[in-house]
Amino acid sequence: MKYLDEYRDEAAVRVVLGALARTVTRPWTIMEICGGQTHSIIRHGLDRLLPPQVELVHGPGCPVCVTPLELIDKAIAIASRPDVIFTSYGDMLRVPGSEKDLFRVRSEGGDVRIVYSPLDALAVARQNPTKTVVFFAIGFETTAPANAMAVWQARQQGLTNFAMLVSHVTVPPAITAILESPGNRVQAFLAAGHVCTVMGWTEYEPLAQRYHVPIVVTGFEPLDIAEGLLMVVRQLEEGRAEVENAYARSVQRRGNPAAQAMIQSVFEPCDRAWRGIGVIPMSGYRLRDEFALYDAERRFPDAGVIAVRESPLCISGLVLQGRRKPHECPAFGRECTPQTPLGATMVSSEGACAAYYRYGRVGAQELMIGRELNEHS
Ligand code: SF4
Repeated sequence: MKYLDEYRDEAAVRVVLGALARTVTRPWTIMEICGGQTHSIIRHGLDRLLPPQVELVHGPGCPVCVTPLELIDKAIAIASRPDVIFTSYGDMLRVPGSEKDLFRVRSEGGDVRIVYSPLDALAVARQNPTKTVVFFAIGFETTAPANAMAVWQARQQGLTNFAMLVSHVTVPPAITAILESPGNRVQAFLAAGHVCTVMGWTEYEPLAQRYHVPIVVTGFEPLDIAEGLLMVVRQLEEGRAEVENAYARSVQRRGNPAAQAMIQSVFEPCDRAWRGIGVIPMSGYRLRDEFALYDAERRFPDAGVIAVRESPLCISGLVLQGRRKPHECPAFGRECTPQTPLGATMVSSEGACAAYYRYGRVGAQELMIGRELNEHS
């Protein structure tokens, strides 16, 4: 397939990684931010083709993984109401809350529907004027413009039976939190290309300068990632700390100004809890006061603060900050599997633990499990 196969060309990837091997002279630890990049790396075995000096650690860029358990429980409480139609992307329905998931709510009679866009949820609201239609708005800056547009359109169309349960997070504050963490090992970042398609990379320039870390905007195919890694290693070896773009076919320095304007007109920055990590200051979006009518948390205050407890076995917070690898968790592949997830990074197919499990990234026995899973996927 044009524009896809050429970025999966093994010979081309090996040429770039050969240049990387000739460039590197010292150990470096590099974090890919996005869960999509993590999956591409593990799926294609890119990490195994790298010289031993280059260690990849996996970042917090999986939106399903970092949605806090409290929000999942709130979603379940709202979705269980008889006056609500709850709409969501499909992958959120199987994320376990403290006691059940949204699929269970549906099997118990709740009206929970999978949609493919927030605008689909708006259509459901128009078709069901006697119900309140709630859309679960999760994700990074990538999904924020469409979600903002849905709220904007609801107001334009005078729809009052539409609301959003918002759990948006943003990348730059997460990078800051990782770099300021006392146990930080990360020396450079591959930034997520789709986030930068919306936001550009000007937000990353002060971070690169202040913390002296190279940041390279990177795509998702093996050749994209190899090129991002080569650029980042060149910077590290030369002592540079700049923002560079390895995803020029999609990203411009200032991003998409129209999409940014839509985000800013509907959302404002706020402190946000990240599952497994905790609250990161000003790391999320919430609806502005003028859109309070569309805020499900204000509309259903009795869904309130729900006390939750994460599994004491789970070290996903350390995994999300690149301080541990999934297979270093004692519960990995034992108590915790994609069928019985205990924590953030196993619940989503984009989570690092799920990627390691799926592609069998530990010991001989687990390698067999991974191969079998691959053969049947
Ligand atoms: S394997 Fe499971 S329990 Fe361990 S860190 Fe990953 S999600 Fe948490």
